[in-house]
Amino acid sequence: MPQLRALVLGGTTEGRALAGRVPVISSLAGRTSNPLLPPGEVRTGGFGGVDGLERYLREERIDAVVDATHPFAATMTAHAAAATTRAGIPLLILRRPGWTEQPADRWHRVADLEAAAALLPALGKRVFLTTGRQSIAAFAALDGLRFVSRSVEPPVPPMPPHLEVVLERGPFDLAAERELLLRHRIDVMVTKNSGGSAAKVDAARELRIPVVMVDRPPLPAGVPVAATVDAAVEWLTALGATGRR
Ligand code: NAP
Repeated sequence: MPQLRALVLGGTTEGRALAGRVPVISSLAGRTSNPLLPPGEVRTGGFGGVDGLERYLREERIDAVVDATHPFAATMTAHAAAATTRAGIPLLILRRPGWTEQPADRWHRVADLEAAAALLPALGKRVFLTTGRQSIAAFAALDGLRFVSRSVEPPVPPMPPHLEVVLERGPFDLAAERELLLRHRIDVMVTKNSGGSAAKVDAARELRIPVVMVDRPPLPAGVPVAATVDAAVEWLTALGATGRR
C-alpha cells in the first residue's frame, strides 16, 4: 500500500513533534526568519486562501490534513476546514488544551486583543505583553502605560510609545518568569490562552499579579479535535500512515 500523504499545518511544538513520529509534509507560514524546523519535508509560505489550499491539496495528492497551528491562528484553521471539505479529504485539528483558572488566579477573561487593551488602564501601569509581536498594534494607543513585550523577533509599528522589547524564544521556566515579572515591576500581564507551558501563568498566580486572559477563537463546527500528539498519530495511523520507526 502506498504511504499516506499527510499535510501538517504547523508552527507549533505539537506540529514538530507529530512530524517526528509520522512521515508528513509540514507547512509553515514563514513569519519567522529562523524557524525551528520540523523533521522531514517542509514547505513554507501561504497557500493563497481557501482556493490556493484546495489547489495545493489536489496537485500534491494529499490524503489527509492535520491542522496543528497555534490556537489563535483562526484564519488558517477556517481555511483548512473549507479546503478539505471541498477536496473531500479528512481533517483533524490537533490543539493542546487551554489553561483553566485556579482559585488563586486573578484572571480577567476577554474575547480579543482589543478588549484586553480597553481593560488595561484600570488594572495597572506596568504591563507584561506576551501575546506575540503581531499583537502589539492593538496596544499602540495606550500612551499612559509602560509595556514590556516578549517575542522571538522584534515587533513592527504601530507600537505603544513606552515599550521595552525582550527578544527571547521559549520555553521559560517558573523561576525565570518570576524573575522577569519582579525585575520589571510588572503589575498586570496580558496573554492569549495558548495552553502548553504554564510557567508565566503560574508565576503571575504566585505573585498575585492580575492576568488579562484572551480567550481562544471558536473552532470550526464538525471537525474532530485531538488534544495530544499521540491521538493525532493514532488518527493518521488508522488512515494508513506508518510510523517513522
Ligand atoms: P492566521 O492569521 O490564521 O493565518 C493567516 C494566513 O497565514 C493564512 O491565511 C495563510 O495564508 C498563512 N498561514 C498561517 N499558518 C500557515 C501555515 N502553517 N502554513 C502555511 N500558511 C500559513 O495565522 P497566524 O496567527 O498569523 O499564524 C501564522 C503561523 O504562526 C501559524 O503557523 C501558527 O501556527 C504560528 N503561530 C501563531 C501564533 C499566534 O498567536 N497566532 C503563535 C505562535 C505560532 P494563505 O491564506 O495565503 O494560505
